[in-house]
Amino acid sequence: QTLATEWNFDNSYARLPDMFFSKVTPTPVNSPELVVFNKQLAEQLGLDVEKLETEAGVEVLAGNKVPEGSLPIAQAYAGHQFGHFTMLGDGRAVLLGEQITPSGERKDIQLKGSGRTPYSRAGDGRATLGPMLREYIISEAMHGLGVPTNRSLAVVKTGEPVIREIELPGAIVTRVADSHLRIGTFEFARGQGEEELRALTDYAIERHYPELKTEENKYVAFYRKVLNRQAALIAKWQLIGFIHGVMNTDNMTISGETIDYGPCAFMDEYDPETVFSSIDIRGRYAYQNQPPIGKWNLARFAETLLPLFHEDQDEAVEIAQDAIKEYDELYYSHWLKGMRAKLGFLDEKSQDEPLIDDLLGIMQKHKADFTNTFRALTFDKPENTPMYETMEFTNWYEQWKKRLERQEGSKESSRELMKKSNPAVIPRNHRVEEALEAAVSHEDYCVMERLLNVLSDPYAHSSDQEEYAKLPEPSDRPYQTFCGT
Ligand code: AMP
Ligand code: MG
Ligand code: MG
Repeated sequence: QTLATEWNFDNSYARLPDMFFSKVTPTPVNSPELVVFNKQLAEQLGLDVEKLETEAGVEVLAGNKVPEGSLPIAQAYAGHQFGHFTMLGDGRAVLLGEQITPSGERKDIQLKGSGRTPYSRAGDGRATLGPMLREYIISEAMHGLGVPTNRSLAVVKTGEPVIREIELPGAIVTRVADSHLRIGTFEFARGQGEEELRALTDYAIERHYPELKTEENKYVAFYRKVLNRQAALIAKWQLIGFIHGVMNTDNMTISGETIDYGPCAFMDEYDPETVFSSIDIRGRYAYQNQPPIGKWNLARFAETLLPLFHEDQDEAVEIAQDAIKEYDELYYSHWLKGMRAKLGFLDEKSQDEPLIDDLLGIMQKHKADFTNTFRALTFDKPENTPMYETMEFTNWYEQWKKRLERQEGSKESSRELMKKSNPAVIPRNHRVEEALEAAVSHEDYCVMERLLNVLSDPYAHSSDQEEYAKLPEPSDRPYQTFCGT
């Protein structure tokens, strides 16, 4: 295979019917400056790292120059936002095209914060530096944690102020994803007509699940595949304490990647009701609601695909119901498998579920840190926290030890399993804030680089990660997040 060293774009999405997108060029910016750059990812994409870092390379990442082969577009979509159906579209993002990598993969390259589009309505189409760096950190952390996610290639400062409550520095993040096809894209297509819905679904199958083309009912097979991917994804979120914050149907991909890092954050102390997003007043997207909301979103997806499932709509509804019925069990089996791994169980025993439930109950009661509890168990080092002093925990701990002794397989393999299932570091909110403060207020990117470095391999359990496992000072203010402005 040839090694591409330039942008190597195809634009398959833009071959869909016209209503699926608007041709739009990014709005040029004053004085672009590359502030963060993911060299490793650039290499995987088959890009020439040195060329990208030159002025001409940065012009592309800033939206000032459209590279050859790119056909910039904003994508149309719809979605249920906090339960309500809305027409949407990329209001401040532009898809440059699909980079075909040296290994033959197809990756969406998208600029976010690159100016107004026909879908912008009230917004200015711009983005500010803090939230773009935050997205970069968290999406790369998710990748390190082994969670399917879009990734971040670069952040460019535009050299232009953006007016929010106050003037803030503008920035553009370059995102890389398997695709930006979302449940909301299908909701949009359904509104256009059955032919359009079929065209989009055929495209999605061809792009993501070509092995399904020969299935007897490929549309049902496709739906089931997405259902499974989403169930697996949300289980992964739960297992690391990730709270997405805005699980609207327009933010749920059919590739099963995490996208839209706006108000997301990781939970410190274990509390199933944790919510960080300032706009999620009722806790619709709280930690414990993520699995059922996933199902709700997938139910909207099934409704959308009904015309493709069967000619007879009564039959189609039955097919949809049969498929969605499987979600709970699918999700639970992904979650249980992950929990068993977190506790070092090499096999399956009937007592595992009550053991897991008991531990979570004790953690919640004593406000134990989610990540550090599993980390401490991994190394069998009691922590200096109130939970460890309690009878409840001591009893649980003895049960757990007995359970481990009753399994075949070595202690070493059990510990290895725990090490790769329990991260030493997550992007803790106070650490992320500290990195952003240094970058935005002092133009010091070293704090962020160090953080990115430890987050790139959170299962290393190396000594330089020790300090990142520390908890924030107690605060009387709960941590709050905002929809990436
Ligand atoms: P989100 O809640 O992040 O999924 O975004 C919902 C919609 O709001 C999307 O269509 C965004 O493109 C749009 N949007 C958010 N911020 C802006 C902005 N500054 N300018 C234009 N559109 C925006
Ligand atoms: Mg979104
Ligand atoms: Mg967003």
